[in-house]
Amino acid sequence: MASYGVYLTKEKEDELRSIANAIVTPGKGILAADESTGSMEKRLQSIGLENTEENRRKYRQLLFTAGEGQELGKYISGVIMFHETFYQKTDDGKPFVELLKEQGIIPGIKVDKGVVNLAGTVGEATTQGLDDLNARCAQYKKDGAQFAKWRCVHKISTTTPSHCALVEIAQVLARYASICQQNGLVPIVEPEILPDGEHDLARGQKITETVLSYCYRALNEHHVFLEGTLLKPNMVTAGQSYGGERPSNEAIGLATVTALQRSVPSAVPGVVFLSGGQSEEDASRNLNAINNVNGKRPWALTFSYGRALQASALAKWAGKDENVKDAQAVLLHRAQMNSLASIGKYTGEDGSDSAASQSLFVANHAY
Ligand code: 13P
Repeated sequence: MASYGVYLTKEKEDELRSIANAIVTPGKGILAADESTGSMEKRLQSIGLENTEENRRKYRQLLFTAGEGQELGKYISGVIMFHETFYQKTDDGKPFVELLKEQGIIPGIKVDKGVVNLAGTVGEATTQGLDDLNARCAQYKKDGAQFAKWRCVHKISTTTPSHCALVEIAQVLARYASICQQNGLVPIVEPEILPDGEHDLARGQKITETVLSYCYRALNEHHVFLEGTLLKPNMVTAGQSYGGERPSNEAIGLATVTALQRSVPSAVPGVVFLSGGQSEEDASRNLNAINNVNGKRPWALTFSYGRALQASALAKWAGKDENVKDAQAVLLHRAQMNSLASIGKYTGEDGSDSAASQSLFVANHAY
């Protein structure tokens, strides 16, 4: 048995635990608005807008001022931002971080520096950004961040994920989590398994169990205080190119909860799912199904959606000032639907909003 020293003081543990618990307050979830400048290029291009710093600022202002300070915080407990956004301000000069805090919304920051290839593997990748992470975390904490995100990606094929990728991703996530916690930031651990592939639901579930098991072993090896972390996984689905019948929301819910039961310690306070290219309505339906599975669910099960919260709002805005209010109403509607789903009380929509039922899948998605 290895000997070990003090990992965190009791005060730091208490602080991290209370931040993590606040993020998964019942009926609330996370708005992932941390698209990198490169990802924003694609988003803004889709509405014919140039990818300038000002257009990115205006778009994030639209999101963060939805409900005029009264409504967004009812459904959203935390917002993840990209570095640039974290230091941007409203038209009136109020820092976004302050604007969110005034609404009771916890500011979060994406701290990874993107996905890079693992040479010699069949298209697998790891995520970089560890070198100066300690200093960056210290600064972000000083500037108001309370939690962080680091995204890794796995791909399912007949030969992947490989042992090399499973170990590498688990280790890099554990090292990131440890550095965050030393600096008072709750790490969101995100080992995303991409929806690309021909696999069926059962293989998606088995791979999810394997990936998460590797991650929690590494988190334990690095002494990470699990009560002060959150997990951001994919839901278990069949692959995007699976040739058989699409699994029902209930089947997805059961496969997802079963995979979590088998691999996520109950010390973890919450699981905040990514939407992974599901349509907005599917992301709500599947989250609702997850929260209606009979059986043990010792963690809060809620959302940390990017595309599934923003896609229709972005389309409604179309870069025009006169559409801001309507676009904000669309965002608030999606946030409310996911809030209901996170407590298993989403009853569906009338299907009249065709944008909300459109798939948001992008092959080999980058963030
Ligand atoms: P999607 O919900 O669009 O999959 O993205 C969430 C996210 O933050 C991925 O890192």
